[in-house]
Formats: sequence, C-alpha cells, structure tokens
Amino acid sequence: RYEPTSKEAIQQGRKDHFGGNLSLTYADPVMLVRGWKHHLFDEWGRPYLDAYNNVPHVGHAHPRIQAIAADQLKRMNSNTRYLHPAQTAFADKILSKLPDHLEVCFFVNSGSEANELALRLARAHTGAKGMVTPDHGYHGNTTGAIDVSAYKFNAKGGIGKSDWVELVEVADDYRGSYRRDDPNRAQKFADLVDPAIAALQQRGQGIAGFIAETFPSVGGQIIPPKGYLPAVYDKIRAAGGICIADEVQTGLGRLGEYYFGFEHQGASPDIVVMGKPIGNGHPIGVLVTTRAIADSFAKGPEFFSTFGGSTLSCRMGKEVLDIVDDEALQQNARMMGAELITGLTALQDKHASIGDVRGMGLFLGVELITEDGSEATQICSYVKNRMRDHRILIGSEGPKDNILKIRPPLTIDSEGVEMILAALDSILSEVSQS
Ligand code: PMP
Repeated sequence: RYEPTSKEAIQQGRKDHFGGNLSLTYADPVMLVRGWKHHLFDEWGRPYLDAYNNVPHVGHAHPRIQAIAADQLKRMNSNTRYLHPAQTAFADKILSKLPDHLEVCFFVNSGSEANELALRLARAHTGAKGMVTPDHGYHGNTTGAIDVSAYKFNAKGGIGKSDWVELVEVADDYRGSYRRDDPNRAQKFADLVDPAIAALQQRGQGIAGFIAETFPSVGGQIIPPKGYLPAVYDKIRAAGGICIADEVQTGLGRLGEYYFGFEHQGASPDIVVMGKPIGNGHPIGVLVTTRAIADSFAKGPEFFSTFGGSTLSCRMGKEVLDIVDDEALQQNARMMGAELITGLTALQDKHASIGDVRGMGLFLGVELITEDGSEATQICSYVKNRMRDHRILIGSEGPKDNILKIRPPLTIDSEGVEMILAALDSILSEVSQS
C-alpha cells in the first residue's frame, strides 16, 4: 500500500480504488488542503484564487460556519421526527426570500435529491409523467434526475432520452436559432415548447411539468432573453403541468441584482430547488413549493429523509443565508460582477478569441471562438490550464466546452478580479501569438 502523501500516490490510489469515470480537473491536477474566503492553498502552502467554486458561497473556512457546526455537534444532531427550533428558523429564513405563494419547504441532502423529489411532486400533483426540459441541462446524479439531464443521458455512453422526456433548444441568443438582433427571440424560443408538449401528449405521457436551470450553466452560462420563462410557464400550465426552477447554480444572491434567477425573468415557479451553496460545504438540498402541490404529495406515503433537515443541517443552512445578508454578499456579487464584466468586455475588444462575454453578478461566461466564429474547444482547454499555472481556478462549460466559467465564492474582492483579468489578458495574448 502507498503512503497517501504525494500527489502521484494519491492519483494512483484514486485509480486503484475509484471508478474510471470519476473525473479530475487539469492536466496537472491540484491538491488543496486549506482555504480562506476565495483563496485555496495546496500541499506546499501556495495560494490559489478560487474563481470557480460555488459551494463555499460565503467563503472557504468561514469562522461562523465552523462555530455553528461545532456548537451543534457538541449538543446533539437528530432528525425531523423530533421538534427543534432550528427547523422552522431555517424554513422562515428561506421563505423570507421567496414570493408568498411558495410556502412549504422540504429538506434533503443534495441538489440531485431535491430535483428527484420535484419530479415526484410534479407527478403526484398532475397525475402525469411527461417532462419538458432544455437540452444540455444538468439536474443531478440520481435515476430520475439523470433522465431530465441531457448533459448526461446524451453524453457518450449515456442511457439516451426516456419516453417521458422531451427536449427543447436552450434559449441561447448568442449561438442558438434566434439571436440578439431579434426582438421576439424570447417568444420564439418559448414557442419551441409547443411541439414538445404535443409529442408527450401524443405518446400518452401527459404533462407533469417543465424543469430548467433558471440560467443554463452546463449549457454554457446562458442568460435567456427576458420573458422567456414566463412564456414557457404559461404554455406548460395551459397543458396541466407545473414549473420547476432549479436555482442550485443561480440562487442565494450570486446574481447580484437578484436573489434568485427567476426574478430576472419575471417568472413565478411552482417549485424552487436549491442546493450546493446553501450548506457552504455541508450537504443540503431544499425544495420549496406551494401548499396545493405539497397537499397533493401528502396524499401519498410519509415523506422522510434521515439527514435531510437534521438539526445540524438546519443550523448550517440558516447561518449561510444570514451571512449572505450580514456581510452584504449579494451587493458584493453585484459590484464585483460589474467589475468583471467591464474588464472582460475590454479584453473582448483586444482579443479576437473572445466571442461573447455574458452573465450577471458572479455567474459569468466567456465564450471563446476560432477565427471563423466556431467553438474554440482547444483554446478553452489551454486557457483553463494556463490559468491554473497562474494559480487561478476557473471552469469551462457548454456543449462544445468552449465557454470559460467564472463563478467564485461571493467574497471575491477587486484584487481578485484584477488577478483574473490580468492573467486572462496575458494568456489570451499567448493564444493569438501561437
Ligand atoms: N442542479 C444543478 C443546476 C447543478 O449544477 C447540480 C450540481 N452541479 C445539481 C442540480 C445536483 O446537485 P448535487 O451534485 O448536489 O446533487
């Protein structure tokens, strides 16, 4: 057996003990052992700027998160079969951020589980199974969530589309069927839902609902044109379905201007799903819905999750949301996002390989293109790996993996923004020289 201390030994251990489809980022992977706010430190103590991870929403190693976890674990940790004030305190805090018609919370352990539960609620409420969802979406790793995640079921070796699912084109007005010069593009993208509904009805599946990442992330950091979601929701509701907003990537203030993405769209979802950042590293998934939908679901068997809504989870989740408010992190996301967009747009003027800069707050995408305007997959991979050499962590997304994804913890400051812009500028110059 190996001593799991060196990077090489740990990589070998992963190969020996884990599945071949557990992926690792970067040609030269990083090992990270400490964190602080939007900084991470490797085994040598070298700092990295974390401009990618959304789970440490209020920052890595936040002292208030440490204190809450320690305090609750010293007392006890149990489940929702017993009363504890933390349960309703967490629910009250979440509901204070949502429109009044969303009033019932379900606590689970992950975004996948929350989306899986959303599918069950949609079926219970409508008596139908058919789901419409945008192409290239991701909603989780469970059996049902994979079935509505084209990003996985259509990938190489994927299980393919199920007969209760219909895909619609992502409302991408940079590269999709309708572009930014078309004032009716929101409605035109929404109209693509009509044939999807018809196909499900024809197959006898009925319409249980529509599920979408409010702003498609793995689809390429897309901001759909304003009014797209309300138009889709109208069509889905007219067909008897309910509308699910997956806010795992977009919720909780990341967008700066909005606490949730659906607010930007002027949309009113029937179910909102939250995950990843809401526990700042502790596994929490939350689903919030209407009383009517919760009542339909309550006609079925008891709902229980051993760890979902545990005392610890409720205290952690509420603390994260309190910190976002107390430290004005939504405002920081708005200001830092604006600085990034300004800087990235200036880089776009200078570097031909930037085709588009888009996003909102700290949910940003930089689409890289080749000379003929097509997707620059190789350049994107090069830039991501060179950013890592500069010790800045960013991601990449999109059907052709050519969109740089910048999605730091909400604590990032102007110094961090300048580091990202300076490194990108220098790396994109290497690209144009080669
Ligand atoms: N929905 C979206 C939009 C996500 O990005 C993710 C995770 N990347 C999930 C759901 C699934 O969450 P989890 O991995 O916590 O199960």
